Amino acid sequence: MKTTRQITILGSTGSIGESTLDVIARHPDRFQAFALTANNNVEKMLAQCQRFQPRFAVMLNMDSAAQLADAIKTAGIKTEVLAGIESLEKVASLPEVDAVMAAIVGAAGIRPTFAAARTGKLVLLANKETLVMAGRIFMDLVKQHNATLLPIDSEHNAIYQSLPHHFNGNLTASGISRILLTASGGPFRRAPLDSLASVTPEQACAHPNWDMGQKISVDSATMMNKGLEVIEAHWLFEAPSEKIQVVIHPQSVIHSMVAYVDGSVIAQLGNPDMRTPIAHAMGYPDRIESGVSALDMFKVAHLDFEEPDFKKFPCLGLAYQALAAGGNMPAVLNAANEIAVESFLKRRMPFTAIPLMIEHAMKTVRQEEMTTLDDVLRTDAQARNAAQNWLANLQ
Ligand code: NAD
Ligand code: MG
Repeated sequence: MKTTRQITILGSTGSIGESTLDVIARHPDRFQAFALTANNNVEKMLAQCQRFQPRFAVMLNMDSAAQLADAIKTAGIKTEVLAGIESLEKVASLPEVDAVMAAIVGAAGIRPTFAAARTGKLVLLANKETLVMAGRIFMDLVKQHNATLLPIDSEHNAIYQSLPHHFNGNLTASGISRILLTASGGPFRRAPLDSLASVTPEQACAHPNWDMGQKISVDSATMMNKGLEVIEAHWLFEAPSEKIQVVIHPQSVIHSMVAYVDGSVIAQLGNPDMRTPIAHAMGYPDRIESGVSALDMFKVAHLDFEEPDFKKFPCLGLAYQALAAGGNMPAVLNAANEIAVESFLKRRMPFTAIPLMIEHAMKTVRQEEMTTLDDVLRTDAQARNAAQNWLANLQ
């Protein structure tokens, strides 16, 4: 019987990817990096291949793949280098693979994540955008192909840990009254509303508690991250939106909670370090060391809670709106948000234009049902167009 889990990491050069490799390095007896993938960071990928000796390394970008192949040959490593989106799908679905860490950022992650589900893998899902864009279709695929889905997002991992052992997808039957989704509030929690128009990408990316990729950092600053997570929780736990309550908790020590009808509230606590949810999901059902230091309650001392400010953070309301509308609207929200974040990071529009652009896309793209991945990708393209047109008119 095979004892080592063969893991493919989609997005190994990113923040989640690197934390995953850190956990793998602590447990060489349990895990083997089977395939590593990245967009175009050749230098980092080469270093990862030298250290972890994966069977495959995939670069989305063709030129980067050619450069990597040369460097790997020179270094005398046996890793085979592949390129392009089909190769990402391939290394997510080869029969040798046991688990796939889906840690590509944004809609770019959807095709390989689908490939992993379609081949019945253990899917470790960091790429929340897949669920936001294609919730029902993806969850159906997971069921149909007997894949196992474990959440990496710290809040959803915390909820998963706080659910009853044999949770069958029915909140009411399990005596659950609410899911309390915690949020740090991001870098602008205390900033006055009228200061937001002039904040810079550097300020938006300076998260008080978590060290993350740029896109999710901006999402945290607008609180769209929490909006995407409401939608993510809806699909993962079959929770109607009125049962998902966002709770601002600035210390990021409680990663989320589940409230029961008898008045009990079960929470998962820990230092804000993604290696905890990563190790939880990778080792599941075993508990394994993650390298995260023990939580010192005396240092934490205070746990604070506030209600979210929907006026200051309209993205949160837009996400609830998209979830209520259903159909393709969450995919529209997600795509327009990606264009908005990118445009803000490139200093082509102010921070406060982000929700305006998304709202425009949600009004412009026609609402419809989606049944296939192609429907999702078509909606994604339409919403990106609508967002780009809005920006062109603004300038
Ligand atoms: P990141 O920007 O640090 O890394 C992204 C990775 O994806 C990189 O390896 C990059 O090479 C790859 N990538 C980017 N564009 C690609 C493309 N078009 N095709 C193929 N690969 C591509 O991002 P991150 O912060 O690690 O976030 C990854 C995912 O995990 C996101 O969906 C994010 O929402 C989610 N997540 C992250 C954190 C966190 O703490 N960083 C927490 C919860 C959830
Ligand atoms: Mg999160």
